[in-house]
Amino acid sequence: DRFRIAIDGPAGAGKSTVARRVAERLGFLYVDTGAMYRALTLKVLEWGAAWEDRSQLARIARESRVELVPAPETPRGNQVFLDGREVTEAVRSPQVGRYVSRLAAVAAVRDVLVEQQRALAARGGVVMDGRDVGSVILPDAELKIFLTATPEERVRRRWAELRAQGFDVTWDDVARDVSERDRLDQARSASPLRRMPDAVEVETTGRDVDAVVDEILRLVER
Ligand code: C5P
Repeated sequence: DRFRIAIDGPAGAGKSTVARRVAERLGFLYVDTGAMYRALTLKVLEWGAAWEDRSQLARIARESRVELVPAPETPRGNQVFLDGREVTEAVRSPQVGRYVSRLAAVAAVRDVLVEQQRALAARGGVVMDGRDVGSVILPDAELKIFLTATPEERVRRRWAELRAQGFDVTWDDVARDVSERDRLDQARSASPLRRMPDAVEVETTGRDVDAVVDEILRLVER
């Protein structure tokens, strides 16, 4: 099947949970594009590279190997490898979350990842989630979804997720990080987060994951 589903939206809107289940139900590949930005962010932090040095950041992106391995039984549905090392859990840390939008603002870094993301979707039968899937990676995707939730609900999900992973974060820390990431993702000049005119907006606040998944599956059948 050549069908491609693009799911975009802000942090905590429920993208990965929903996208993963839709992929499972359809037997499609699930690709978490945010994990790729997170993996490169981890590398920049480990190397102590300068965040102002865009050409160095781009070089790191070009010279790194970021791999996503489908793992439907894991919380996020993809295992993440950076230069052959598994970093699935490491990329979820609050520190990576705090820096990832800086890396994602660098156009030359995005160019490297977008090319890889398009290659992953080339065969179709894919559900891809992120910020620019419907606008840049797969502008002609057969179905585009824009997932939303209230700011409070998005903070609640991120907070619960980080606590479940054992990170000692407070509600205020998470609220600050989420709103800062929203601001940076929407304000950047390179592929800012926005709803495409042809995307279907789906609200997830207070709804069962299954109800949201069913709604999307109905849109696929249409
Ligand atoms: O999806 P997740 O919250 O893990 O994404 C982390 C960050 O990566 C986002 O806040 C955004 O800055 C960046 N990102 C992006 N484009 C994508 C996916 C993620 O800029 N397609």
